[in-house]
Amino acid sequence: MIGVGDMVLIEPLSEDTFIENLRKRFEHNEIYTYIGSVVISMNPYKSLPIYTAEKVEEYRNRNFYELSPHIYALADEAYRSLRDQDKDQCILITGESGAGKTEASKFVMSYVAAVCGKGQEVNKVKEQLLQSNPVLEAFGNAKTVRNDNSSRFGKYMDIEFDFKGDPLGGVISNYLLEKSRVVKQPRGERNFHIFYQLLSGASDDTLKKLKLDRDFSKYNYLSLDSATVNGLDDAACFRTVRNAMQIVGFMEDEVQSVLELVAAVLKLGNLEFKPESRCNGFDESRIKDKNDLKEMCELLGIEQSVLERAFSFRTVEAKMEKVSTTLNVAQAQTKSRKKVMGVLDIYGFEIFEDNSFEQFIINYCNEKLQQIFIELTLREEQEEYIREGIEWTNIEYFNNAIICDLIENNKNGILAMLDEECLRPGTVTDETFLDKLNTVCAEHQHFESRQSKNSKFLTDHSLPHNCFRIQHYAGKVLYRVEGFVDKNNDLLYRDLSQAMYKANHSLIKILFPEGNPAKVNLKRPLTAGFQFRASVGTLMKNLLTKNPNYIRCIKPNDKKAAHIFTDSLVCHQVRYLGLMENVRVRRAGYAFRQAYEPCLERYKMLCKQTWPHWKGPAREGVEVLLKNLQVAAEEFAYGRSKIFIRNPRTLFFLEEKRRQC
Ligand code: ADP
Ligand code: MG
Repeated sequence: MIGVGDMVLIEPLSEDTFIENLRKRFEHNEIYTYIGSVVISMNPYKSLPIYTAEKVEEYRNRNFYELSPHIYALADEAYRSLRDQDKDQCILITGESGAGKTEASKFVMSYVAAVCGKGQEVNKVKEQLLQSNPVLEAFGNAKTVRNDNSSRFGKYMDIEFDFKGDPLGGVISNYLLEKSRVVKQPRGERNFHIFYQLLSGASDDTLKKLKLDRDFSKYNYLSLDSATVNGLDDAACFRTVRNAMQIVGFMEDEVQSVLELVAAVLKLGNLEFKPESRCNGFDESRIKDKNDLKEMCELLGIEQSVLERAFSFRTVEAKMEKVSTTLNVAQAQTKSRKKVMGVLDIYGFEIFEDNSFEQFIINYCNEKLQQIFIELTLREEQEEYIREGIEWTNIEYFNNAIICDLIENNKNGILAMLDEECLRPGTVTDETFLDKLNTVCAEHQHFESRQSKNSKFLTDHSLPHNCFRIQHYAGKVLYRVEGFVDKNNDLLYRDLSQAMYKANHSLIKILFPEGNPAKVNLKRPLTAGFQFRASVGTLMKNLLTKNPNYIRCIKPNDKKAAHIFTDSLVCHQVRYLGLMENVRVRRAGYAFRQAYEPCLERYKMLCKQTWPHWKGPAREGVEVLLKNLQVAAEEFAYGRSKIFIRNPRTLFFLEEKRRQC
């Protein structure tokens, strides 16, 4: 074993020894390391021969700690307890952009697909589950400075199984797609892959039908400075995506509708507006060149005059939303309850130089995930102790519930205040919102105890006038309020949704249900913040019913390069992923536990009475063994099926003895 396979066993434990261990293992291509049952995954930025069919076989049906750390061990454990113990599972994958979350989710899915069920029907479902990835990635991923294949949305997928553990299908929810990317991409980044794939990979005939030109430079929405990505074959990807859509279950005409939409978006980007003064003193915008408009209307089956009129009113670029797609590929229904494995691939904590509404929302989501982590890890520990008949001792830890409260409290949480401000009549600006925050959150600090939620709203006089600062569990973050009000409102003017609803195009109609005049609803649409809070709430409830499995992804460097390990960067991630905290919680109780049989098997050579064969029950064998080795009694607790070891040092002592044998 290179370094220490389980961080719980590091001695002495410090941030330095923790990171040194990661580095050592990384340098030897050991990218996985445990913290108890949590898997830390370092992105190797090169392909390693550790995902082969042989590896799958190696990890299949083996105990978690038997082999060297691997994501397959986690996937295997999760799948088996789902199948054999009927416990729903969730796999929570976190880490910053480019850390390897999406790849990890795919490894988990392909492992589970490889080991679950057989037969024609089952294989078809597996294929559909796996092929949902290229489709989602085409429409939701893009090249960014951090990652050539960056997911611009959070993804949660429930994979459903029948009582035998055969897959039935899946339900996918998406969170916070970065819609604004369609319109504008930061320097050196691209739009969503599908645009480039379509133009590079579609046949001449298809392009003609879509009224498109193969040349990227013809489209305003396609940035030119980084139109191609090294090692990425857009044309080949298009064929993969086309094929995947078919496997997932799109009919030919549905694929066509989707592509028409993609083409229409490109045309939309080419429309140029010019202001025109009206005699009533208002400016109105007019479309300069009508050809793109005409073609767009043809593609979408919209009357040109209708759309033109809608565009003449002010349009607002919609920034973000919670999109919830249901891809239900369940083929068979069985009478018994479905078993479910949820896989969550969501953006990690973000601290940029400039943090806006998006970072605020993403970090809020991460606070909630940390909450779940705390609740579930502790609950799991507690439940295991009870199951094993061991006395429970309380564990000290930082509970971030007050930070969640600061953000989501119904009455005076930040999101509620933002909503209130957005709904208030009169002049509402980002500044009035900030004033309100400062008054409410800072005022109360004087009266409340240190552990109140407002103690996490940091006020100090060095703050820039347009910012507020929050003490997140992962660190302090400075947010700039500019855009908060607009982004939270996320308005799409009714004229536009009504024009879209009038389209003679099956897909567009579905996408703009609010444009249905029969459903004119004078209530304000829900704000982005409110919707997100609600969907995070639903997600958390769902996760809480499941047994959690954690994968914490770490990015070794900022260069997307193999073999480089930047200490400061890794250290930063270790901190905000709360990994040290994680080890401490794990070590606060019993650091190590193992079933009696494998424990006896491993150490029986250390004692004459147990070597070579112990005839009695394994538990008694372990007792004899430990007495014989004169290990202090308080170091151990005998559970029903496992031995619990309090201090890692004891384990080292045993291992050392074994080496000397
Ligand atoms: P994230 O979803 O966290 O933003 P990705 O999963 O997209 O990151 O990973 C970014 C890139 O890193 C991938 O496109 C791939 O090139 C590389 N990568 C990530 N994990 C692995 C791995 N286990 N083995 C090899 N390459 C990896
Ligand atoms: Mg990703």
